[in-house]
Amino acid sequence: MSHEGIRFISKEEQEKVEREEKRASALTKAALTPAKVRVLKTEGTGMEIDWEDGHHSQWHFAWLRNACPCATCVEERKMQGREPGVPKPQPKQLLQMYEAPARPASAHAVGRYAIQFNWQDGHSSGIYSWDFLRRNCQCAECKAAR
Ligand SMILES: [Zn+2]
Ligand SMILES: [Zn+2]
Repeated sequence: MSHEGIRFISKEEQEKVEREEKRASALTKAALTPAKVRVLKTEGTGMEIDWEDGHHSQWHFAWLRNACPCATCVEERKMQGREPGVPKPQPKQLLQMYEAPARPASAHAVGRYAIQFNWQDGHSSGIYSWDFLRRNCQCAECKAAR
């Protein structure tokens, strides 16, 4: 055998590598373009997006508020070791203060690439790009792939 030491990658291995590369990097343009965006402000539940590639995503307002992509919130989460969407740890108190669930007073598109929420708590600096949202899709399929 003259090929000793040289490892040929099998077809299956090659396909596996290609699948992984695809998952890691290339979200198609259609996967990052919303066909329909619904902000369920009146219902107070969350936001839903139908993407051009046919995928459907939804996020609760609480998740979105706790995933705020502004520099201050990103820094705070990093210091506390929290993933986007994970709420702040609540200090143990004798008297639990009621905290109103996160809800936007309004929402508007930022150019063609993002959406911004004006939260009822007064915070509004986070710009949620379609890319960020799609990569943080909360459906079981996407969660399993991450
Ligand atoms: Zn923020
Ligand atoms: Zn998904």
